[in-house]
Amino acid sequence: MPSSRDLSVSTIAIHGGRTLDSHASSILFPLYQTSTFVHDAVGVDKGFSYSRVSNPTVDALEKAIGALEGTPPAVCFRTGMGAVTTLFLSVLRAGDHAVLSDVVYGGTMRIFHEVLYGIGISGSFVDTSDPAQVEAAITPATRIIFIETPGNPTLKLADIEAVSQIAKRHSILLAVDNTFLTPILQKPFELGADISVLSTTKYIDGHNATVGGSLATHDEKLLERFRLIRKTIGSIQSPFEAWLVLQGIKTLPARLKLHCEHAAEIAGWLEKHSAVDHVYYPGLDSFPQKGLAEKQQSAPGAMIAFELKAGTEAAIRVLNSVQLCSRAESLGGLETLITHPSSTTHADVDPELRRKLGISDGLIRLSVGLEDAADIIADLEQAFAATNCSE
Ligand code: PLP
Repeated sequence: MPSSRDLSVSTIAIHGGRTLDSHASSILFPLYQTSTFVHDAVGVDKGFSYSRVSNPTVDALEKAIGALEGTPPAVCFRTGMGAVTTLFLSVLRAGDHAVLSDVVYGGTMRIFHEVLYGIGISGSFVDTSDPAQVEAAITPATRIIFIETPGNPTLKLADIEAVSQIAKRHSILLAVDNTFLTPILQKPFELGADISVLSTTKYIDGHNATVGGSLATHDEKLLERFRLIRKTIGSIQSPFEAWLVLQGIKTLPARLKLHCEHAAEIAGWLEKHSAVDHVYYPGLDSFPQKGLAEKQQSAPGAMIAFELKAGTEAAIRVLNSVQLCSRAESLGGLETLITHPSSTTHADVDPELRRKLGISDGLIRLSVGLEDAADIIADLEQAFAATNCSE
């Protein structure tokens, strides 16, 4: 196969990092659904020993994600939170400190509150859309900056390049949770990041079939450390889930193109609708950081958040009235999902902090799927009408 550098992203998604299996050359890499591997002799094996440490199918997925990231093979985990947890346990010890986006996924906040604070690791959650606040939060104990951009659910952006310059000046690591865009729409390494974090549960799988995560970096020592901690805490991806994700990745660029087209259409419709108070979508002229989105993303993505003029109760009635959109957590799959962040993804976040972050109780989040955009619009319209939101 030609070098990945010569291939377009659609080709890399299908062929990047792929090898034919050595037994039968099946076009799909086989599923090695096994816990253990037989040694040829004492101390002689074929590179695999036990599936908590590594597995050929998980290995194949790691190569495929590495090809998309433009890095050596990634390290894959049972969940996105498995990846996030392994990252922090790999680079932080008691007494260390991290700086994080105030709009990170609720689970990333919870790992600090429920686990890391208890073992002497501290974290500051700051508005990383303002690089000055990132720099001001750094202490001599800071080892890592962790940003999520776009942030969840208001899609607030952080300037990856500006934050990476701060990280370099202070000799600390920069990790970017790129789950909302994937390396197809945003390339953290080209913007100076050291580590890319993905919940593969979302667009990478794309079919709402699996839960998983990955860490990618160019730093071989960090990769080795991630694998060691993964083996120690037992957070490796399962072979079957890895096999499913290997299939999902192949259509990632094609899916994202359609996801983004549909999201742009729906966001434009929402913004014009008389029942809607505010729409958060990086592709709209009204989005305050549209310029930054254009600078560091190749498309606005397919996540939208909006608020209704009629307020919280009306928003809940709309959520209960949709017929095609699915009321569900998660994002990035073929099905359009509609979520109420304050009672689901961000339910554990202190209500006062939620309000400060712009996550009102009336905020609705849409993960735009691949149904025809007109059908989603018709579904929202009937839900607005059924709940007397439409004026
Ligand atoms: N990062 C982001 C941005 C997320 O949205 C999520 C989950 O929603 C995670 C990480 C955690 O991933 P998982 O649910 O696969 O553990």
